[in-house]
Amino acid sequence: MSNIVAIVGRPNVGKSTLFNRLIQQRQAIMDDQSGVTRDRHYGNSFWTEQYFTVIDTGGYVVGSEDVFEGAIREQVEIAMDEADVILFMVDSMTGLTDLDKEFANVVRKSKKPVYLVVNKAETRDREMAAAEFYELGLGEPYAISSQTGFGTGDLLDQVVKNFKNAGIEDPDAGIPKISILGRPNVGKSSFLNVLTGKERSIVTDIAGTTRDAINTRYKAYGKDFILIDTAGIRRKSRVKEAIEFYSTLRSVKAMEDSDVVLVMLDASRGLEAQDLHIIGMAHKAKKGIVVMVNKWDLVEKDSKTVDKLRKEMIERLAPMDYMPIIFASVHEKQRIFQVMEKVMEVYENKTKKITTSKLNEVMQAEIERYPPPAHRGKHIKIKYMIQLPTPSPTFVFFTNHPKYIKESYIRYLENRMRENFDFEGVPITIFFRDK
Ligand code: GDP
Ligand code: GDP
Repeated sequence: MSNIVAIVGRPNVGKSTLFNRLIQQRQAIMDDQSGVTRDRHYGNSFWTEQYFTVIDTGGYVVGSEDVFEGAIREQVEIAMDEADVILFMVDSMTGLTDLDKEFANVVRKSKKPVYLVVNKAETRDREMAAAEFYELGLGEPYAISSQTGFGTGDLLDQVVKNFKNAGIEDPDAGIPKISILGRPNVGKSSFLNVLTGKERSIVTDIAGTTRDAINTRYKAYGKDFILIDTAGIRRKSRVKEAIEFYSTLRSVKAMEDSDVVLVMLDASRGLEAQDLHIIGMAHKAKKGIVVMVNKWDLVEKDSKTVDKLRKEMIERLAPMDYMPIIFASVHEKQRIFQVMEKVMEVYENKTKKITTSKLNEVMQAEIERYPPPAHRGKHIKIKYMIQLPTPSPTFVFFTNHPKYIKESYIRYLENRMRENFDFEGVPITIFFRDK
């Protein structure tokens, strides 16, 4: 379990700015896979070789000052429950406010270490900026600037000293990021409720936000996963097209940030054009894909129905016919576990690395069995192949004539790869290079 640092404080002191700075710092250092969403409520940071999770509580408290009392308490209590270290932020430009004092009263009761962070101090002398906040009785103030990074290093040096277990491992490593996509009313929210009602989330599962994508880490049905949820994005519009546009945008954003996309369909409607569109996008983005046909309880069926329907769907999906299809019912809690199990398997397939020797041994035999057809009398020879260290399986085949390899032969190679190495649910890419 990762070390958690929560940033609390009244609105506009600069919590999100610090949060984004901490997350980006990590991105810069780690050079993580692309597609990391910036605006989210929890993310991982990294300082002096230690990982930690940052919670930005900023999104939870909105509204005027008179509705504050309850909201403050709730926000800080959540943070105190979840966090190992609390950063209590105030604003040196506006100075000490009554609201800061109210916050401080709650924070002071925490048994967790609290750091008093005096933000927006970039143009001022540190001592000067911090002086008036001593009276909060929260110890020595740390003057920083979230915007420029001034003072944040000194602060983090102190913060990481509190970590019990050195967070030297990426807490999210090996944990799939998933998103659930599908047309309205197929049962996405119901599925989420079944999943998340099961066990308490590990980090935080507070609903209601105005920010962008929320990544929430869950454990359900014995599986650890991070759900990319964009339900919090709300943009008001009276125009139907605009609403559709934003809902598509949300799906795309969630998909980009995921490792595996769970595409949900409604069994009573089958595979529709829009579903094919979503699957096509996930395929292009090289995401792992699992298709869940929900509301299976509504379908009249006999012993042959599943096989028949699966066959029909696979025919329509071709050539994207490599993904698992699971017939499930959220209402009857039928095959929910299998869906999660498949998501994990597909994630494993997506991150799998085949050694060069194994790859060559297996694929050279397949190529011997069925060599690439000659092109205008030119003999085509495939010499060897490697897997690239990319986020989704990508292979390079070295050949004397890269341009003359036919589409049908690429398809043959892909199929043999799938048969031999199990890439169920994962798009694979094959390139040819001159050698
Ligand atoms: P939050 O409501 O506490 O999350 O605050 P935000 O991060 O949204 O910041 C509120 C405002 O303060 C924004 O306009 C920021 O650009 C500004 N701000 C944040 N950090 C700093 C800083 O270090 N210096 C200055 N001058 N402005 C800052
Ligand atoms: P969303 O728009 O995709 O989030 O869909 P909802 O979760 O709101 O579900 C839409 C409707 O389908 C609701 O009335 C659900 O009760 C219903 N529903 C969800 N799952 C099932 C299921 O497995 N079987 C049946 N019969 N109805 C379902």
